[in-house]
Amino acid sequence: MIDLLVKNADYMITMNGDREVVRDGALAVDGGRIAAAGKTAAVTARFSEAARTIDARGRLVTPGFIDNHQHLAPFFVRGLGDDVPLRVFLHDRCYPMEAGLTEEEAYLAAMCALLESVRHGTTTVCDPGSQNPEPSVRAVSDVGARAVLTRSLTDMAGGRAMPGTFDSTTDDAIESGTDFVESHHGAAEGRIRAWFSLRTERMVSDRLCRSVSELAAEHGTGIVSHMISNRDSVEHHQRVFDGERPIERYDRNGVLGPNLQLVHCHFLEPDECDLLAERDVKVSMCPTASAVFGWGGLHRATHLKLLERGVTVGVGSDIGACSHTVDILRIAQYFRVYRDVFEDASLMPAETILEHLTIDGARSVLWDDEIGSLEAGKRADFLLFDLDRPEWVPLHNPVSNLAHGASGDSVETVVIDGRVVMEGGELVLVDAGEIMAEGRRAAAAAADRLGLSPFAGPRWPVV
Ligand SMILES: [Zn+2]
Repeated sequence: MIDLLVKNADYMITMNGDREVVRDGALAVDGGRIAAAGKTAAVTARFSEAARTIDARGRLVTPGFIDNHQHLAPFFVRGLGDDVPLRVFLHDRCYPMEAGLTEEEAYLAAMCALLESVRHGTTTVCDPGSQNPEPSVRAVSDVGARAVLTRSLTDMAGGRAMPGTFDSTTDDAIESGTDFVESHHGAAEGRIRAWFSLRTERMVSDRLCRSVSELAAEHGTGIVSHMISNRDSVEHHQRVFDGERPIERYDRNGVLGPNLQLVHCHFLEPDECDLLAERDVKVSMCPTASAVFGWGGLHRATHLKLLERGVTVGVGSDIGACSHTVDILRIAQYFRVYRDVFEDASLMPAETILEHLTIDGARSVLWDDEIGSLEAGKRADFLLFDLDRPEWVPLHNPVSNLAHGASGDSVETVVIDGRVVMEGGELVLVDAGEIMAEGRRAAAAAADRLGLSPFAGPRWPVV
C-alpha cells in the first residue's frame, strides 16, 4: 500500500522533459517521493491501494512553486518602507528591524511569511539570510515547507553605520557562515539545505568572497548574493573598489560558478551576461522589487538578455515589504511588462512563466534532481488548484489560465515531501489564525521598540 494517491485530476501540468499536460491525471506518492505520474487508469492499475486517496476531479495539479528569493526574517517591515529609495529602505527600516528582532519575533516573522507563501502555492523558498536565521530553520520545519536557508554574511559597511551583527569582521563572518551550514544542512528531514550568503556585492571584502567560494566547494553547497539591483549599487561598488565592477571582482575571487545564484543583476553589461552564461551562474529575478523601488529592472530587461544566452532564471518575491505580497504566481505575471516596453506580444509566454516558477526555479536552487516537476522518483511537492472558480472559466488552455489569469488564491491543497500541508485552503500543521494574531502583535511591538513606529500608520488622518 502506498501513502497517497491523487487521481482523476482534470489536468496535470507535469513540467517533465516533454512538458506533458495530462488529462485525467494521477500521482502515486510513497515515502515522500512520486512513485508514478500519468493517466489515472495507468497509475491506479499499478497502485490501487493507498493509505489516503484524494479525488482531484475539478482540480488542476502542478508542481509546487519555487520562490527563488525571499527574506523570511525581516517580513515585519512590510508597510514601514513605502515610497522611499532602496538605500533609505535598507538602512533606516529593514536593517534595524532585521538586526533588532528577538528570537521569538524573528520566528513569528518567518512563520507569517511562510503562511502567506504556502497558502499561495510556494513549496520551496530560497532565503538570502538574515543576522538571525536560526528561527527561520524552526519556522520552515514547523510549517512543513522546503527551503534553502543561509546566514547573511557581510564584513564591510554598506556606506553607512550598520546595526548590530551586520557590523561583523571577516573572521566572524566566515566562522558564523560555516557554522550555520554545518549545523543546518539537511535539517527538517532533508527539506532544508544550508548555503553561504554574500549579502550584497558592496558589503563583502575580497577575502570573504574567496573564503566563501572555497568553503561552498568544500561543503558541496551553494552561494547566494544580491547583485547590482540598481544604478546606485554599481556606482557605490566602483567607488569602494577602485573602479572595479562587481562581476569582475566576484570572478577575480573565484565566486562565479554553477553553484552561485545572483539576485537582481539589472545592471549587467553584455559581456557580463556572457560570462554568467559561460560559468553557468543562476539568476533570480524579482520584478515586483524593481517595480516598487524604481530600479529600472523591467525596462532594462537584462532578464531577457540572460534567457537569450541560456542562463537559468528563477523568480523571487524578495521581501514582503518590496513586493507587498509573496504570492509568487502574481509576482511572475509582472514579467509581461516586457511586452509593453518592447512592443512585442510574444515575450514571456505562459510556458516560460511556469518554467520559471517550477523546473527553472528548481535548477536555480540546485535542487532540480528532486523537485520542480512531477516525475517518478522526484520528491512529492505539488499543488491542487480549484477549477470551480471564475478565473478558470472558460478553460480552453489550462497553461494560459494558470500563468496569465489565476493567482495563488485558487490553490486549494499543497503537498510538500509527500505530506499534505494545506487542505481546503487551510494550513494543516500549524494554527494559522493564532500565528497571524501573534505576528501582528509582535510586529507592532518590534516597530515601537526599534523606533520604526513613525513610519507606521496611514498618511491620512486616522479618526
Ligand atoms: Zn533580497
